[in-house]
Amino acid sequence: MKPGPDETELLQYLADLGWSDLYLPAGSRAPSGAPPPEAVVSGIEAKASSKDAVRAASPGSSRAVADDRSVEKLTAPGSSRPASVRLPEAEVVAELASLSAKVAGCRECKLCTTRTQTVFASGDPRARLMLIGEGPGAEEDKQGLPFVGAAGELLNKILSAIGLERDAVYVANIVKCRPPGNRDPEPDETRACRGYLERQIDLVRPEVLVALGRIAAQELLGTDASLSRLRGDWHEVRGIPVRVTYHPAALLRNAAWKRPTWEDMQLVRDRLQAGDGTQGAAGAASAEGAEE
Ligand code: URA
Ligand code: SF4
Repeated sequence: MKPGPDETELLQYLADLGWSDLYLPAGSRAPSGAPPPEAVVSGIEAKASSKDAVRAASPGSSRAVADDRSVEKLTAPGSSRPASVRLPEAEVVAELASLSAKVAGCRECKLCTTRTQTVFASGDPRARLMLIGEGPGAEEDKQGLPFVGAAGELLNKILSAIGLERDAVYVANIVKCRPPGNRDPEPDETRACRGYLERQIDLVRPEVLVALGRIAAQELLGTDASLSRLRGDWHEVRGIPVRVTYHPAALLRNAAWKRPTWEDMQLVRDRLQAGDGTQGAAGAASAEGAEE
């Protein structure tokens, strides 16, 4: 069986991301500034349990994407949402708009003095998946949108690799104004900004939250545990399961983190699929009917 068009596209995303680098023999790898390849390759062999990751990252394999059906499921937005735990969409949209206007004029911390503009969020207010970054960088500060720079491009590819369009997820940051020189946000700043993020989470009520990077994870979860510790578990914030993974900007610096990020995102995808399953046949059928 040859890969279908969707699979070919997915493999291209994976290749763009450089996942395949991780699976090639050391000698055939293009120079990429990555850390010692042998360590990465042996790490993969030692942990070959993630069959999907290995298969999906092998462009030569005709079974590259075994479960393309489930990828399809995730790309069909609007299906099987637990509407009972959310406000009606129009209300969510209106509340987010008014919150965004409030943020645009916010002067609750010193970051207001150096920002060009605030960066509230982007994406689908009914998203099943919400991503949380640290804070706007230079490009985000310029455009007023989260993750639009180099890290954002990589983020889009990571999402595509689990069958999600960037527009189908909701993306926000811990702080809504750029810390000067891209320094870490300071405690008084994250404290001042926290309420906005909590309100965003409560309004969107995604099924899964992903914290991108150590700062986002520590701030979101209120802990100073290390990223490697936090990555290993499901957490919970405001009743919503949280997974922690590397920040896309970190992957640009260190290619060895691409594979663990891929594994984290597989777990996120699985969790979303499990959510699909618990809706029951009736729920799924009526959600589909409603779309027609
Ligand atoms: N890094 C972040 O954490 N957030 C952005 O919006 C952009 C880069
Ligand atoms: Fe207000 Fe948050 Fe910007 Fe500080 S970072 S000024 S709290 S919006």
